[in-house]
Amino acid sequence: MSKVQISFEVYPPRKPEAMGELQEAIKNLSGLGAEFISVTFGAGGSETKNSLEVLKYIKDHSSSTPLAHLTCVGTTKEQAASIVEEFREHGISDFLALRGDLPQSGQLPHGALERADQLVSLIAESRTSGKIAVAAFPNGHPESHDSRRDIDALLAKQAAGADFAITQLFFYASDYFDFMELARSRGVTIPVIPGIMPIISAKRLQRVLELTEEKEPTELARALKSEEVGAAREAGIDWAANLVSELVAGGVQAVHLYAFNEHKNVTETLRRAELVS
Ligand code: FAD
Repeated sequence: MSKVQISFEVYPPRKPEAMGELQEAIKNLSGLGAEFISVTFGAGGSETKNSLEVLKYIKDHSSSTPLAHLTCVGTTKEQAASIVEEFREHGISDFLALRGDLPQSGQLPHGALERADQLVSLIAESRTSGKIAVAAFPNGHPESHDSRRDIDALLAKQAAGADFAITQLFFYASDYFDFMELARSRGVTIPVIPGIMPIISAKRLQRVLELTEEKEPTELARALKSEEVGAAREAGIDWAANLVSELVAGGVQAVHLYAFNEHKNVTETLRRAELVS
């Protein structure tokens, strides 16, 4: 129906019983023609196992490419290389290379990796296939509060071998287009795929704003507070669908949706934006 590339993010379920529902969602998301489905990653060995289980499911049961998020902060080069190798041994060769969140103390072990561009280099040095994605922040990374630093970080990741970027969520198309204008003027040449999250409750909006430090979108926040049955979901999906439509009208060729491990809300968002039937 549309030439705009679509992709989704899911996370490893917190409870094993939820894996069945996630598998169902993955089949549906892939059925929409998703180019790739990305799977989030947290620190520690058990998270590797959980991410891998979902990635392998995508590889074996869908037509979408599995894209493995990987964080590196606090690990040594050798530890990071061994995780990359483990993923590759399971047939996963596409990565979203991230720094991850700094430890609360702010202190890193001696010799530990500190930034995402170091992980990009490490993956790029040993790759024989697969793409490397990185994160971008249209409204700035919470730690930097300076768009120059954010573009510097993106340029460093591009120079290290990143093929494309996926953005943090944002609420207005102008956030993305203004960022892209600055990024292109500073030498960013890789595609930057906008990340969009349909937010269907006031509680979720609150949580997302705490995590991302984005500014509250006043009209959406007001609409999500409606007590009428179904009104919050309607408003959240409409907001995301309008955002997708404005981005596509402005020339965007790919969109990445944060799916929250279910398919109905993102499918409805894309349907209203006329990207799927
Ligand atoms: P970096 O690119 O290293 O940059 C972080 C900040 O450091 C920059 O904004 C800049 O201020 C500074 N900086 C770094 N390098 C330079 C440089 N060369 N010059 C100047 N300044 C620099 N986290 C998880 O734990 N698991 C996930 O699965 C996960 N998935 C994500 C998916 C997406 C699409 C996004 C946008 C974020 C995701 N995150 C995830 C969150 C991410 O780990 C955090 O935002 C983290 O704080 C920063 O990661 P980064 O890869 O952007 O870091």
